[in-house]
Amino acid sequence: MSTLDHTQASELFSAYWDEELSSEQTAVLEEHLGSCLSCRQEYQEFEQMLGAAATLPQELAPPNFVAGAVKRVHRRSRGRFFRVRRLGERIPYELFSLLMLGLILAVYLMLQLNQPGRLNLP
Ligand SMILES: [Zn+2]
Repeated sequence: MSTLDHTQASELFSAYWDEELSSEQTAVLEEHLGSCLSCRQEYQEFEQMLGAAATLPQELAPPNFVAGAVKRVHRRSRGRFFRVRRLGERIPYELFSLLMLGLILAVYLMLQLNQPGRLNLP
């Protein structure tokens, strides 16, 4: 491995960050980063992302963190994920299924009562 293309270089970012590359791989990657602006920018973004994740104190997530994340994903996915259902959309289905159950029970009871043969015991 003496030269890298962009894909190979970006595949090494993670191991490079973790300092898991051999000295030869490190030298080759650093050479590519030195000569390739787009990979250098990509690695800087990668580094910032990992650096930000590493310094993020987990216990300091604000109470509305999950709601905020859900809202952001919803907005960025243009409503594809976490579609917010209003109460009015949800309850009628639950009411409807309850009504259907009640209706089925009523029909069942009516059928039972309308069969006099069963009630006329010998
Ligand atoms: Zn490159």
